[in-house]
Amino acid sequence: MPVTPAPENKEATSKEAVSLASFSGRGLTSKQPIQVDIKTAPKNSGITFHVLSSKTNQYVEIKACADNVVNTLRNVVLGKDGTRLCIVEHFLAATTLWGVEDLSVYVAGLEMPLGDGSAALWTDLFEKAGMQPSPPQSTIELKEPIILTRGDRTLMALPDTKFSVQYMMDWNHPKIGKRWQSWDVGQNPAEITRARTFGTLKDHQMLGLENDVISLTADDFTMPLHWEDEPVRHKMLDLVGDLALCGINPLRIKAKFVSIKGGHEIDVEMAKRLAAALPKHN
Ligand SMILES: [Zn+2]
Repeated sequence: MPVTPAPENKEATSKEAVSLASFSGRGLTSKQPIQVDIKTAPKNSGITFHVLSSKTNQYVEIKACADNVVNTLRNVVLGKDGTRLCIVEHFLAATTLWGVEDLSVYVAGLEMPLGDGSAALWTDLFEKAGMQPSPPQSTIELKEPIILTRGDRTLMALPDTKFSVQYMMDWNHPKIGKRWQSWDVGQNPAEITRARTFGTLKDHQMLGLENDVISLTADDFTMPLHWEDEPVRHKMLDLVGDLALCGINPLRIKAKFVSIKGGHEIDVEMAKRLAAALPKHN
């Protein structure tokens, strides 16, 4: 099927979208071509995906917000009017940590590209485009703690002086076990943006990912790790990306997010609660 190109930029005026970066490749799970064009968007408009519908060949506008999440089983899937976009969380972590807050992202494809399973694909593209990380100051007060518990998973947002995340994981695997790690706005974003996803070899074989990303065998990993605790760092990356679905850059929130074995489902619920609790963009 011919792919309609994303709308071209006209001559630069301050109000018109400017192309920042683009990606062409193939989806690792869908095995289908993907074209992503990242453009500027009006201030305070947030991140909006424009996903090409295979039915109408028109772009469907899907705002990156928790209300548009249609699935959280393996990754975060946004959808509207029958058009879906999978694996948005690593991209949203990259934009959050780089302080890139207003974007129109045109996607022809079923998923955002996975790269090596971290957010490095995006942060490398941003750097190539001359964008340096500029995480915003935490200025928005969280008035009350928000504590969510689902079975043995807990996610807390606690009022604090700045944004931070802390993750506690507990996996019955000899190379993981019980681990915790934390990150705050004063630290280098690469401490988490370069942490790659992981999963069991069985799951990855089922998805056709076993040669592309880190898998867990019974007693080891299939690739050398960047850090000994790379899996827990990736959990923080996912959490940051998921929290971006509250509609503002979560780094702006003066809160400590503590996750005990949390995942996409509880993260997205937190994003909804934050969206309700925080002041809206003007
Ligand atoms: Zn992830």
